[in-house]
Amino acid sequence: MSYIRRQVERMSGYVPGEQPKVAGLIKLNTNENPYPPSPKVLEILRGAIDGKLRLYPDPTSSALRVKLGKIHGFDPEQIIIGNGCDDILNLCVRAFCGECEKLAYFWPSYSLYPVLANIQGATQVELPLDENFQIQAHTPLLSKLDGVKLVFITQPNAPSGGWLQRVQLQRVIEEARGVVVIDEAYVDFASEHCLDLVSEYDNVIVARTFSKAFSFAGMRVGWAVGSGELIAALNKVKDSYNVSRLSQLGAEATLEEWDYFQQNVKKICATRERTSAALAKLGFFVYPSQTNFVFTKPPVPVTAKQWFDGLRAKNILVRWWDADRIRDFARVSIGTDEEIHKFLEATKEVCEEAKR
Ligand SMILES: *Cc1c(COP(=O)(O)O)cnc(C)c1O
Repeated sequence: MSYIRRQVERMSGYVPGEQPKVAGLIKLNTNENPYPPSPKVLEILRGAIDGKLRLYPDPTSSALRVKLGKIHGFDPEQIIIGNGCDDILNLCVRAFCGECEKLAYFWPSYSLYPVLANIQGATQVELPLDENFQIQAHTPLLSKLDGVKLVFITQPNAPSGGWLQRVQLQRVIEEARGVVVIDEAYVDFASEHCLDLVSEYDNVIVARTFSKAFSFAGMRVGWAVGSGELIAALNKVKDSYNVSRLSQLGAEATLEEWDYFQQNVKKICATRERTSAALAKLGFFVYPSQTNFVFTKPPVPVTAKQWFDGLRAKNILVRWWDADRIRDFARVSIGTDEEIHKFLEATKEVCEEAKR
């Protein structure tokens, strides 16, 4: 007899991108921001390392919710803060989808969704994206939404990086009887967002993170907005003190430094466009990206695995998955201009070596 739940014994855990211990690697594999938090944010954090750390933090991160509510035009009661956006996604599964109930997600997309479904013992419904990684909300696809309790949509999508057509998204929301979570982890790099759908539909939650555009991945702060009723349910399920004192304070300070972070976002988007153009010039196929990464396929005869391994040998990390539909591609996080310069030089060398 095993000590472990059958469901847990059978499942595989989430596999995060490598966080190397050695220095000197160019790390373009986990979509972190290449620029540090603003000096002001770091100063405020340093100043907060004092005896107050013996006290528990505000259990509901109220000051941060008030600030986000003001910026985005929502009542603070409609907002929940999480220990990263992943925490929020987990809470949604806990609160909205029971064991053996249906949880749907588009595929290929964020590989955490099936893991969360497995932990819960939920029944998974995979909704295939088309060859351009877009939603085609035709009748057979929509019929799969029958009886679904929870749907995850990544917007802009990952790992493809593209913006999903809004009309198709709306058809899914209207067709789904359950809760639809729009995971906007990368939205700060996009030209549109879906926050208005929260006011339009009572089954929509939009989830966001400070990890990518706000250089705060190490501090773990995410948030979500939805109807007061849905957010109240998430609040019942969350850990009492799910966001640390320093994380709350740092995230509040981040929101006061909006211009600094918007400048970084602009720089990253400009570097992204240059990276895409340079890769295309080398014969790579590059999907249009509305994120801080590009999803790209090397030119024949170079395989994505060869390219990934070749870069790794030159101390450059990108992300490659040995999985159906995406194994011909690799995902490259946008770094600083200098990092991307080195990445492109290494890419040229790897391609030349592979063609020999
Ligand atoms: C990075 C990412 C998250 C998680 O963000 P954290 O706030 O760091 O937990 C969620 N969804 C997608 C699609 C992501 O890429």
